[in-house]
Amino acid sequence: MLNVATETPTVKSFEFIDELCSKGEPGQFIMVWIPSVDEVPMSLSTLNPEGKQAAVTVKRVGEATEALCNMKTGDTIGVRGPLGSNYTISRAGKVMLVGGGTGLASLAPLAEKLVKETTEVTFLMGAKTKDELLFHERIKSLLAKSKGQLMVTTEDGSFGQRGLVTTLAETLLKQNEKFNMVYTCGPERMMQTMFLLADKFNVSFEASLERFMRCAIGLCGTCVIGKYRVCQNGPVFRDRQLHEVTDEFGLWRREFNGAKTEI
Ligand SMILES: Cc1cc2nc3c(=O)[nH]c(=O)nc-3n(C[C@H](O)[C@H](O)[C@H](O)COP(=O)(O)OP(=O)(O)OC[C@H]3O[C@@H](n4cnc5c(N)ncnc54)[C@H](O)[C@@H]3O)c2cc1C
Repeated sequence: MLNVATETPTVKSFEFIDELCSKGEPGQFIMVWIPSVDEVPMSLSTLNPEGKQAAVTVKRVGEATEALCNMKTGDTIGVRGPLGSNYTISRAGKVMLVGGGTGLASLAPLAEKLVKETTEVTFLMGAKTKDELLFHERIKSLLAKSKGQLMVTTEDGSFGQRGLVTTLAETLLKQNEKFNMVYTCGPERMMQTMFLLADKFNVSFEASLERFMRCAIGLCGTCVIGKYRVCQNGPVFRDRQLHEVTDEFGLWRREFNGAKTEI
């Protein structure tokens, strides 16, 4: 591991050298092996093919992420990937990115790629509190150099506008601004709301989904959603695919033992 950076009280980024991962596309993920603990899926949060570097950004939620967050520069991890589908790059025009929590991990490299295509980026970033805002400075300085804009919401009003990021997104969509695409990654209820809004305002839509994952190569079926496997057909799904799984998307998912749990 090349570098470990503390992003928020519960989130750290881990930078490493791996040529294949550094050439991944925004939206793709890798399986990170934490020796003697587990192997878990993580989005690529930095893509630097020139330096052959990549990174993942990890929230401490359980055994594997706790062990990873205790690792230091120089420790060894294993990586398998890049895997899965990526966001479609909208070349030119105007797009909206809506992110919450560690969903920002996959949207940050997407924004970095979009601005190179001279696409106009409106980035809406939501968090519960100011402390939990992820990549605020990174996105702010990126968009300051382009025609983009960054807007922030916090649920407690400690930074930016008070409230939910989806409320702000709806306001912008209602203002008659024509967006070519809405991209989203974050809590699934948030993504489901954005899916309904994009449909209502007739804007193309892509979302990056999370499901429990084991093999990550389409064999075990742990990550099924309807007829799709998130590891192979996703994690980034287009609107037409999500229309086929509306009885699951935002509502429930399967645990490792196959049991259905409400989201
Ligand atoms: C394609 C993909 C990309 C991901 N990218 C990131 C990322 O960039 N950063 C990040 O912090 N996390 C990401 N995750 C989620 C991450 O893989 C899980 O948080 C991790 O596997 C939890 O492992 P654990 O042993 O620490 O926790 P566990 O003890 O296994 O679980 C702790 C809690 O997290 C929940 N959980 C565990 N795995 C998942 C999952 N796959 N989906 C939803 N909830 C889960 C459990 O229900 C439980 O409540 C991603 C997941 C997928 C499928």
